[in-house]
Amino acid sequence: MPNVKEIFDLIGKVNKKDGELISNAYELASRAHEGQKRLSGEPYFVHVFETAKILAKLGMDAQTIAAGLLHDTLEDTPTTEEEIKKNFGEDILFLIKGVTKLGAVKYRGHDRHVESLRKFFIAMANDLRVVIIKFADRLHNLRTLEHAPEEKRYRIAVESIEVYAPLANRLGMGKLKGDLEDAAFPFAYPKEYMQIEEIIKEKKGLYEKYLTEVSEKLKSELRKNKIKVVEINYRIKHRYSLYKKLLKYNMDIEKIYDIVALRVVVDTVEECYRVLGLVHSLWNPLPGRIKDYIALPKPNGYRSIHTTIFTGLGGIAEIQIRTEEMHAEAAYGIAAHFAYKEQGEKKVRDDKDKFKWIEELKELKYSPDDPKNFFNHLKMDFFNDRIFIFTPQGDVIDMPEDSTPIDFAYSIHSDIGDHTSGAKINGKMSPIFSKLKNGDIVEISTKKDAKPSSKWLETVKTSIAKKHIKSYLEKNSLLSRLKSFGRS
Ligand code: MN
Repeated sequence: MPNVKEIFDLIGKVNKKDGELISNAYELASRAHEGQKRLSGEPYFVHVFETAKILAKLGMDAQTIAAGLLHDTLEDTPTTEEEIKKNFGEDILFLIKGVTKLGAVKYRGHDRHVESLRKFFIAMANDLRVVIIKFADRLHNLRTLEHAPEEKRYRIAVESIEVYAPLANRLGMGKLKGDLEDAAFPFAYPKEYMQIEEIIKEKKGLYEKYLTEVSEKLKSELRKNKIKVVEINYRIKHRYSLYKKLLKYNMDIEKIYDIVALRVVVDTVEECYRVLGLVHSLWNPLPGRIKDYIALPKPNGYRSIHTTIFTGLGGIAEIQIRTEEMHAEAAYGIAAHFAYKEQGEKKVRDDKDKFKWIEELKELKYSPDDPKNFFNHLKMDFFNDRIFIFTPQGDVIDMPEDSTPIDFAYSIHSDIGDHTSGAKINGKMSPIFSKLKNGDIVEISTKKDAKPSSKWLETVKTSIAKKHIKSYLEKNSLLSRLKSFGRS
């Protein structure tokens, strides 16, 4: 049976007021859900309890944790809004209502992808904590997804990968993003998941061996050079992100160097660079693999130094160097903004700058008549690997990175795709195999006698274009065979 103490242990130090708030929420939720069961046969309360635990682990404040415990009371129990308001106040009621509303957003495939996102943006602009509770709720649902009906499993898993995970990533919540993707992966792409499991099983030992050697030597050198190490450990790459990387490299595992990576955590930025210098004096770095995300952080705020070295005897290892603060940020991102612990004024100001785009979102009013304006204002780098392409009429279509005008044509209509003869990108005639960039405006011209070729098949990125081109090619090779059969 759950115990509220588990939540307190995850928080660490709890003051009296917060302790009471969480205990009261715990009491109400366990009473409200009494007798209800989940599909797994477990008491329903376990779900809201685990959701609250995920929030506590993310370092969220007491209000958010309490709202996590109560997040299903309005929808699934006789508890009323007045009751919540009277016992827990306006803020917590607002959070619960926000989560309930977001739950009604259904993912309806790629076409409606943008629509689901828009709802998330709006919820986020009101109070980001709503979205973070929804993340925690979803993560626990994914972890118990095996009990859900089969057709639901796939939808929820894909939606988590397409909508939730990129959003978590954009908020800098790297650990949560990885957890969501890994929990969804086996249900969204079972075959690919098995493949990745095999690869990891096969390679893990070898990479761990390299890293243990490197780690031992590095530790003693750091000691000699009087650089204090806060932490040195290694992490195994998340399953799904390894899969995505493999896809990028034609499934060639030899090209992936960070299946396992060594992490060195030190006190100051200056020490990060000293560690990098030391590493490069001990081992030869691989050219082109030194990345200084401290001087040049990723768009989502990620900071760290990465380098890949030859360990000798054919071994290769990635090393990531960062401070404790960067380490926490890489895992929790924007959640650190609401962290339970007291924060100094400077920190709050820094956070404000970093996440200014969220503030900007609040200013943004979406009008269905003018979607172009809305998306033009949206941060275009919201997704690392999605791009937004516009029709001359201002409709927006989101597509994977490196998509071509042919992909774009097929995502408008298969007939347009099949007869694509040319493309204007931002008003200029361009090859139909060009790689599109975020924000491009694309106009497709068609000709009756234009038709797909096998070269198209090699260059397109989207599965929808691939599907149509393949079926066109198959149909036509069949037709020509039939024709020559007729002649003989
Ligand atoms: Mn729930």
